[in-house]
Amino acid sequence: MLRPHLPMRPAWLCRICAAPWPCPAARLDLSTEFHGHTVALAFYLATMMRDALDDTYRLGGRPDPTALHARFLGWLSPTRRPRRTEHH
Ligand SMILES: [Zn+2]
Repeated sequence: MLRPHLPMRPAWLCRICAAPWPCPAARLDLSTEFHGHTVALAFYLATMMRDALDDTYRLGGRPDPTALHARFLGWLSPTRRPRRTEHH
């Protein structure tokens, strides 16, 4: 499992590209890793979002839950793409 684009806490910036996590590369990695497990991915991201929220509070910041939600979970497509498993 290769997932180098991990968040640097407590700033929650990507270790590799320094973009707010999940950066585009991390999103790609995650959708690959959790392919077919949309619920598990959403749960994982919700957990990470909660951690980011906690970290921001701990640092004395005032997180914007709406923005965080959009950042961590907003990129997930709400409609599950019907994808039949094809075996050729
Ligand atoms: Zn990155």
